[in-house]
Amino acid sequence: MIQNIKSKKTILGILACTNIAIIMFTVWIGICQVRQDEWVMNLKIPVSGINGSLQTLVYLNCILMTITNYQIGTKLSIFSIVLSLANISRAIFGSKNYVSIPGFFNCFLQLLSIVILSRQFRIRENKRITDRVTGLGNRYGFEEVLSRKLDLRKNGSILYIHLKGIMQANIDLGRNYGDELLNIVAKRICSVLEENGTAFRISGTEYAIILLNGVNPQAVSRDLLEEIEKKIVITINETPRNCYLNGVIGIVKDFGKEENIETILQHADIAMNFAAKSFNEKICIYDEEVKNQVDRRNQIERLIKESLEKDYFYLEYQPQFLIDGKILRGFETLCRMKLPDGTLISPSEFIPIAESSNIIIDLDEYVIRKALEQFKNLCNEYGDSITLSVNVSAKGIALPDFPNKLLEIIEKADFPRECLEIEITEYSLSDSPSQTMKNVEILRANGVKLALDDFGSGYTSLAQLLHIPVSRIKIDKSMIENIDSNQTNKDFVKTMIYLGHLMKCDVIVEGVEDYNQYDLVRDFSGDLIQGFMWGKPQSLEDTVRLCSEYLVNNK
Ligand code: C2E
Ligand code: MG
Ligand code: MG
Repeated sequence: MIQNIKSKKTILGILACTNIAIIMFTVWIGICQVRQDEWVMNLKIPVSGINGSLQTLVYLNCILMTITNYQIGTKLSIFSIVLSLANISRAIFGSKNYVSIPGFFNCFLQLLSIVILSRQFRIRENKRITDRVTGLGNRYGFEEVLSRKLDLRKNGSILYIHLKGIMQANIDLGRNYGDELLNIVAKRICSVLEENGTAFRISGTEYAIILLNGVNPQAVSRDLLEEIEKKIVITINETPRNCYLNGVIGIVKDFGKEENIETILQHADIAMNFAAKSFNEKICIYDEEVKNQVDRRNQIERLIKESLEKDYFYLEYQPQFLIDGKILRGFETLCRMKLPDGTLISPSEFIPIAESSNIIIDLDEYVIRKALEQFKNLCNEYGDSITLSVNVSAKGIALPDFPNKLLEIIEKADFPRECLEIEITEYSLSDSPSQTMKNVEILRANGVKLALDDFGSGYTSLAQLLHIPVSRIKIDKSMIENIDSNQTNKDFVKTMIYLGHLMKCDVIVEGVEDYNQYDLVRDFSGDLIQGFMWGKPQSLEDTVRLCSEYLVNNK
């Protein structure tokens, strides 16, 4: 772009210099004519004819300058034509050379046509850099303003706002109402900015803001989010409807320190995407650490895809025991990633990354298929005295065709469905609660058990929790980590076990590592435990061995 601007400036310079040279030449011819120099007197073509042709050349250059850059080109063109006019006026009024009068009018017409041409260019240019829906500048406008600021060595901050909820509004209400929402957001952004910056709409759901130097970008971002997330009421067929939108913001501070516009835009994108994928941060300021985290996330994302293709994932199974009598009840399937060089990547790192994109859906399916295949023989051998639990992500369980797909996989694998338990996290119910509830009901009606993982993590209201149709709840290990030293945790676990029983569920407590924890869980009437004390996640071979040890005795 900068290259382009430079070459345009060069062309304008050449054309303007040519014009001045031509006009000077005509002035010189005029002087020679007044002096009645011999060479002028002997010319076969009349001087007025030569001047007319040269003026046409000046006019042609003026058109080219206006086309090249209508803003600077128009000014240079007007300057050239006014110079010509002055020269012709001098001939008419100074030298009483009345043959130049038609040339004088000609120049006026040329001036008028350049002004009209320039106006048309301005209208076209405004259309090119303006967003049709909101009337704000669009991506081209934004990049042009920013590169001009960089050229002028100005400083400030860039904010990229990503709006969430517009796609859904387009689906639910139609595109016209979606556009209305975008318009309202644009107005709200401008009302927050006042004179502190300029807003642009750079894509369907993204706005960019150039903040003036000295304005605090974090404070403005907070105000912007507050304003954007306020209720929006739009009227559809005379009925008011409440709409809510969310936003995340990526910030690049001190853009003037950067060499080129591409780097600034890339940093703003990185910061905005980081905020979009973050669970708790809605505003992200670009810095080296953010960049490193994004690089790592991208690397893990690539590795997940590669691992799915090349089968670098393997499964481990962690036993679950009835707390009374240490009776083996089943296993939780836990996914592991091992790269060809032996590096192990923890699920605590790769699962949240997979969950922040749609790869988790493929990963869930991969684990279900593999686990059913590996466990089928054990289930056939021990019947429903053994349960295989498989984790399914919030995104996976919210898919409308999830139950059908799962039942199809179970059928294909010839797996006894009464041996299968699906673990969903409490968080699953916060995103698309109605579809998730529907899917849970379908699975339950088809004989698949359901457990609620991370129970008590606080994503669901108590009223909603009491009506979730699951038969088992799991209390996370973080709850019992300090249970013997922390009275609050102790009371919390006791209450959650009580609540679980109110919901007519069995309660599994995860992460039990020692007898102190075990004793407390038993005192609180917990039903099952899953923890390192009685069994770590282990290979399929060890799992088969454990089954033969425990289940033969219990058969
Ligand atoms: P989760 O489903 O709550 O699984 C229990 C986690 O607690 C496992 O960690 C397990 O190894 C760990 N754990 C169990 N008992 C103890 C203990 O006594 N002490 C300690 N320190 N840890 C214990 P892991 O395997 O690292 O998995 C972490 C999370 O990753 C899981 O939490 C689950 O949310 C997710 N995950 C693992 N595999 C899958 C999968 O196949 N699909 C999906 N969607 N998520 C998975
Ligand atoms: Mg789990
Ligand atoms: Mg858990």
